[in-house]
Amino acid sequence: DRVSHPLRADRSKLYMADLESALHYSLRVEAARPSSLSGAQLAAFKCYVATLVKYFPGRPCVQTYLQTLDAWLRNWTEPELPRTVLKEAMKNNRDASHPSVLPTNVTWVGCQGSERHFRGYPCGLWTIFHLLTVQAAQNGPDKELPLEVLSTMRCYVRHFFGCQECAEHFEAMAAQSMDRVASREEAILWLWSHHNEVNARLAGGDTEDPKFPKLQWPPPDLCPQCHKEERGVHAWEEPAVVTFLKAHFSPTNIYMDYAE
Ligand code: FAD
Repeated sequence: DRVSHPLRADRSKLYMADLESALHYSLRVEAARPSSLSGAQLAAFKCYVATLVKYFPGRPCVQTYLQTLDAWLRNWTEPELPRTVLKEAMKNNRDASHPSVLPTNVTWVGCQGSERHFRGYPCGLWTIFHLLTVQAAQNGPDKELPLEVLSTMRCYVRHFFGCQECAEHFEAMAAQSMDRVASREEAILWLWSHHNEVNARLAGGDTEDPKFPKLQWPPPDLCPQCHKEERGVHAWEEPAVVTFLKAHFSPTNIYMDYAE
């Protein structure tokens, strides 16, 4: 059930409803499409859940949900994981002393499109991975495992993302430059700049929501200090961009409007 509402979301905020909706959709719908998971696809799924446990700043019941699922997956050592078994393991448990719940409704707030087929899940998935790159930089050693989140994203997109053409584009960008990322802070910037590359490619195209034109982000009204001019040409002030991304994709900027 998809809820529509008249809210005009604040573009400077993140909404827990978007994050939880995208998590629910990715785990229980998108990743549960194949009749069973095995090999690299099963590894990609385990890796995604393990990364979420480490860095997703969820509510207590959602953190418990992710931890329970992660522990269950670690225990699953058979080569094949049938969808029916996985779906059973991904059900909520509200009765436990520590409830383990990821809401099953899909409600888009910051990611709501002006029409049903615009925005929604892909917007939520980008938001989750930006949030994870920032949380990994804030909560882990800068020079260790710089690709922890980016390679999780690369595997997730390659094995599960429903838009095949998008996955191929993303894989091409990753293959070209992702392995040159040398720190967790560079990982934040890699994802930001490549998301802007995607925005530039899609601007004016037929997947663009006319009410949400593709911009080079953050636009000057969200972050004036992120922009500068060098010999009359627009340029990014990268240290300001990093500061902005760290504040934007921070737990204190996540709002509970319309969360279950
Ligand atoms: P989105 O681009 O989804 O962005 C979501 C939110 O993130 C924005 O509202 C903004 O708040 C913020 N944001 C925007 N830019 C940045 C940035 N540079 N850094 C940090 N935050 C930012 N669609 C296609 O038609 N073709 C493709 O090839 C394609 N490839 C994709 C690849 C991936 C990995 C993903 C996740 C999606 C892809 N999509 C593609 C979908 C497309 O990128 C958008 O997600 C979709 O069109 C919805 O756009 P949106 O306006 O909600 O903003």
